[in-house]
Amino acid sequence: MAIARVALDLPLHRLFDYLVEDGEPLEPGLRLRVPFGRGEKIGILVALPDSSELPPEQLKPALEVLRDTPPLPPEFFRLCEFASNYYQAPQGEVMLQALPPGLKKPRAARRRQLKPKTGKPAAAPALPALNPEQAQAVAAVCASQGYAPFLLHGVTGSGKTEVYLRLIAAALEQGRQALLLVPEINLTPQLEARIRNRFPGVAVAMLHSELAEAAREREWKAAFLGEARIVVGTRLAVFTPLPELGLIVIDEEHDPSYKQQDGMRYSARDLAIYRASSSRLPIVLGSATPSLESWAHAQSGRYTLLRLQERAVTAARLPTIRLVDTRRMNLDGGLSPQLLEAIRKRLEAGEQSLIFLNRRGYAPVLSCTACGWVSRCSRCAANMVVHLKDQRLRCHHCGFEVRIPRACPTCGNQDIHPFGRGTQRLEAWLAETFPQARILRVDRDSAKSRKQWEALLEQIHGGAADILVGTQMLAKGHDFPRLTLVGAVGADAALFAADWRAPERLFAQLMQVAGRAGRADLPGEVIIQTEYPDQPLYGALQAHDYPRYAATLLEQRRQAGFPPYTFQAMLRAEAPHMADAIAFLQAASGLLPPEHYPDVLLYDPVPMRLSRLWSLERAQLLVESPARPQLQAFLSAWRPGLESIKGPSRLRWHLEVDPLEF
Ligand code: ADP
Ligand code: ZN
Ligand code: ZN
Repeated sequence: MAIARVALDLPLHRLFDYLVEDGEPLEPGLRLRVPFGRGEKIGILVALPDSSELPPEQLKPALEVLRDTPPLPPEFFRLCEFASNYYQAPQGEVMLQALPPGLKKPRAARRRQLKPKTGKPAAAPALPALNPEQAQAVAAVCASQGYAPFLLHGVTGSGKTEVYLRLIAAALEQGRQALLLVPEINLTPQLEARIRNRFPGVAVAMLHSELAEAAREREWKAAFLGEARIVVGTRLAVFTPLPELGLIVIDEEHDPSYKQQDGMRYSARDLAIYRASSSRLPIVLGSATPSLESWAHAQSGRYTLLRLQERAVTAARLPTIRLVDTRRMNLDGGLSPQLLEAIRKRLEAGEQSLIFLNRRGYAPVLSCTACGWVSRCSRCAANMVVHLKDQRLRCHHCGFEVRIPRACPTCGNQDIHPFGRGTQRLEAWLAETFPQARILRVDRDSAKSRKQWEALLEQIHGGAADILVGTQMLAKGHDFPRLTLVGAVGADAALFAADWRAPERLFAQLMQVAGRAGRADLPGEVIIQTEYPDQPLYGALQAHDYPRYAATLLEQRRQAGFPPYTFQAMLRAEAPHMADAIAFLQAASGLLPPEHYPDVLLYDPVPMRLSRLWSLERAQLLVESPARPQLQAFLSAWRPGLESIKGPSRLRWHLEVDPLEF
């Protein structure tokens, strides 16, 4: 009889002991099926202690030792332990969320479904000769030893992906596996095809959360068993144990989708950096607009900066970016005469235009001119968005929806109007103005699922649209060869948003969406409508000068004492009444004697910007320190205390380290 210490998927900072009677040798990393409460659970064996705190007669026997996969390796334990400490998340929760769902469900018989793929290496395709900057980047990474972080900065189309592919090839040649992380939206059939074409005969595993359970288990196992040599995935793939990992690449490293927004709120990019350092690997972060955190590391020399300053295809020049000052302009449907004229020209030439408006729906709000009623969500502190197509008012925060009323619910006035403009309204207006044009809208309403999104991409690539209207979904790394005009409307809103990271995101989005124009043999033009043409953001954008803008922002951050010059964590609480949420945070801020943590600053609890969601009032407390270790020490001491604060039963809280949104 052995004692097995087991991590279970529970929101508890503790492990559980079981007795195991199993003829074969036991090892940490094996999965166990164990009784828990009235049911059973799958857990991960983390240790084989000599004794338990519980007397032997209270230990329950495990039901089964699962040996359908080899034990999870020490590397996996290290990563999960780091994540658990860093994000103050229970070890069991971290470890089990890292497994594909199929491996953590109790089920009796397990099929063995792995058939080793014995693809013969087919003829490799002819490769383009690298330009000098690309060659330099590849050489630098290949020459590195041990842990070596690189930031690959290059505008859209500068050939970053080509560099990744060469580095992956080099890793494969050395008998190693490569892990390529991409943002949610970029994991498309186009990318998959590009990789499979480049590496015919090489087993590639694709990992993302929308895969069916069986497929995800199959891909994960192929990666874990070393059968798949290239692993491409979204943020969750960062946890995949890879026995022969030799390289990590993170494409669009600044992308917010690397941050998990619920459960354990981790940053896959930051965990990947840890993983590379603990496993002594090279890691390449690529972006046209790196996060300020990574850029600062590149400036300080912590990361090696690699730059691609030209577009890879020599004929494809960077698009001209024009600002149209709309202050004293009569806009027709929200579009300036300049933009309209430019669209008209594209239609005549048989080229594509893209109009970027980062607001979906028909209009942000419905309102009564007689009494001032506006369509508010009954559960959230937010307006209900008008969706004219399906005649609904819909809350974009909680999903609550109602039919569009015929008359004002307060005063009965029938003269109620949508105010402002979303993608649907722009689409409708364009359809009226250019009746001959084929218009395609791309946003989270038209592309709800990955399937729909892929179908839309297919249509666009097939040339089935003259004008694309869409949100940031359209901005991400796609190559639309006949696209020569990009118009951006309504961008100013983000300049003065309450979230101080909004301008950084806006710059990245505009740069990315601008990068869609003129990639192939046709020159591109970008028109940005603004009432603030003198904003430095627009100036830097026009000059395609990310470093200049990053320097400006970093200087502002330094002066204001914002990240990356300070380290933050956010404690958030939600409850039916705001007073309870605030009271919890108040109690939390008094838990530890401040004199023990002189370098840690606790702000006053305040209601969140979206102060009510799903009928719960929400408040937050910001914790800040100029030094990461001090912040971590504080959080480690703080967290157990938080668990003992007595609040009303419907109060819930969570801690987020390195919060991205405020
Ligand atoms: P990014 O990832 O920076 O957007 P890509 O790697 O996708 O850039 O390259 C953009 C385009 O240029 C692609 O069509 C790619 O095939 C091509 N390309 C990349 N590198 C070269 C090169 N050295 N010579 C010729 N074409 C290249
Ligand atoms: Zn009214
Ligand atoms: Zn709502």
